[in-house]
Amino acid sequence: MNVEMISWPWMDEEALCGMAAATCTGAKDHGKALEAALKSGHESVLEHAAFTFRVEGVSRALLAQMTRHRLASFSVKSQRYIDMRDMPSVVPASIMDDPDLMDEYTDLLEDIKGFYRRAVEKGVPKEDARYITPQAAMTDFIVTMNARELRHFFRLRCCRRAQWEIRALADEMLRLAKKKAPALFDDAGPGCLAGECPEAKPCGQPRQKGEWEWQKT
Ligand SMILES: Cc1cc2nc3c(=O)[nH]c(=O)nc-3n(C[C@H](O)[C@H](O)[C@H](O)COP(=O)(O)OP(=O)(O)OC[C@H]3O[C@@H](n4cnc5c(N)ncnc54)[C@H](O)[C@@H]3O)c2cc1C
Repeated sequence: MNVEMISWPWMDEEALCGMAAATCTGAKDHGKALEAALKSGHESVLEHAAFTFRVEGVSRALLAQMTRHRLASFSVKSQRYIDMRDMPSVVPASIMDDPDLMDEYTDLLEDIKGFYRRAVEKGVPKEDARYITPQAAMTDFIVTMNARELRHFFRLRCCRRAQWEIRALADEMLRLAKKKAPALFDDAGPGCLAGECPEAKPCGQPRQKGEWEWQKT
């Protein structure tokens, strides 16, 4: 028996998945083997490539949705250890566009910050004071997904039916993924890109492949 740990520091993610696809079929051309695997839905070859993203300045509401993706790995800014006294927050455009609601939103956030500050100053541990923080509170995290899970994530979260903030994040991640590994993500995106919309209530505005093209500046 010969057992090796293989690591390919010089090999990119497309080459790695291509090698996996070619290992299955014995094909000489790894690029074509990958293309054939993707066309036939043989997606396990995509699990060998992992992509890591740093995400900053998003709401805890987004985080709650993001962490439903069980095959992803996360490292999240801790509200137990990090002082939230400043508590930057995300404001949805629908609220920002209404001056009265915006004033009320700002006042409520100031009240919450005031409570948090007073509680911490009175000796309440940060891990308890954070109970008052809203879903609007900003957070940062690192997320890693393999290419198969990423494609699944893009199918669900680049759809117009997905909530706007996670859709904006998914759109940016797809743009970056297409730039880094076009062979793995060329056809990635919401279900409507592949043909008929899979949603029970289609939005009626199918998204276009060009929306995620990397803009060379
Ligand atoms: C538009 C939209 C609306 C939503 N609304 C709600 C809502 O109202 N309430 C709510 O609770 N959630 C809601 N969700 C979250 C949704 O139900 C999923 O939890 C989330 O999208 C993660 O998807 P997933 O389970 O397919 O993905 P992942 O967890 O990333 O898993 C990927 C795939 O692996 C497989 N898999 C993973 N774990 C298991 C398992 N334990 N058993 C079998 N197969 C598994 C499945 O094939 C799964 O599709 C919503 C999601 C979207 C996109």
